[in-house]
Amino acid sequence: MDAGLLSRLPKVVLHDHLDGGLRPATALELAEANGYPGLPAEDAASLARWFFQGRSAGLERYLEAFEQTVAVMQTADALARVAEEAVLDLAAEGAVYAEIRFAPTLHLRGGLTPERVLDAVLAGTASGRGRAGIAAFVIVCALRHQDDAIAVAELAGRYAGRGVVGFDLAGSEAGFPASRHRAACRAAAGAGLRLTLHAGEGAGVDSIADALGCGAERLGHGVRLAEDLTVRAGGVVGMGPVAARVHAAGIPLEVCPSSNLHTGMYAAMAEHPVGLLHRAGFAVTLNPDNRLMSGTSMTAEFAQVVEHQGFGLEDLKAVTLRAVEAAFCPPEVAREVRERVLAGYPSG
Ligand SMILES: [Zn+2]
Repeated sequence: MDAGLLSRLPKVVLHDHLDGGLRPATALELAEANGYPGLPAEDAASLARWFFQGRSAGLERYLEAFEQTVAVMQTADALARVAEEAVLDLAAEGAVYAEIRFAPTLHLRGGLTPERVLDAVLAGTASGRGRAGIAAFVIVCALRHQDDAIAVAELAGRYAGRGVVGFDLAGSEAGFPASRHRAACRAAAGAGLRLTLHAGEGAGVDSIADALGCGAERLGHGVRLAEDLTVRAGGVVGMGPVAARVHAAGIPLEVCPSSNLHTGMYAAMAEHPVGLLHRAGFAVTLNPDNRLMSGTSMTAEFAQVVEHQGFGLEDLKAVTLRAVEAAFCPPEVAREVRERVLAGYPSG
């Protein structure tokens, strides 16, 4: 499949972190404008290399990279600019729909209130949407290892119907089960938000079951569901109770292949379970997670699964249409997005 076709295909993005997708040049300009001296490089190319360490990096280094992006996102202007550019950059590689997520509480160091933070990100998203002509919404994340998830859920809930469509639990999964924040999940859902929870990345099948128990409608990553499968000759021959439940309910998995490689979950793309899960009928969707830290894009994720997981055009179309179905936007928006996806695939 040629690279031109892959980049032109319409894409639907469900899992993309705002603080994981900055343009290196923008990070430099924001650091300069806000007097932040801590960036580890002075030109965009070196900075991009510093952020993208690939598989050699390890989790520690990956988290340190977020310290740097978050440090330059502490003013309303910076947040609005980064949000706008995220929408524009995704649109430039074919995205017709994007849900961009972030944790408002990471952006209070410059004195902004959580409301100002959300207002700024929503203004940036709206501006990007207008300029790029695509649909874009925001998912608000609370952090599993912190104790303010209820307040974050209530904040997000006040923005339901005003650009925020979902609530997520991000941060350290191992040792911090979703059920620790059950009340926050309930508050978000009660305010009209949809729930997607990171699970099955930093922890395994139990964590996925726990997230489902908290009402997760989609799973961020979810790939460690593969640990609940019996596999023979490259095919699924048996499912444990959690996998069977996810399979039967068609719970969408927001799979981010490159990210999983870079955090050390799999040694090579050929070993990633994305193809196995897809072929077994799980509701796999493809996502970039952190475009800057993983040096990736939606197009690159498509290319990875084509090259290493046997995906063809029909598979890419299937995961994209599945992502439309899983989208948290109002149904009339989803209908339009679906039309754009169908129109963008070669007929036949
Ligand atoms: Zn994520």
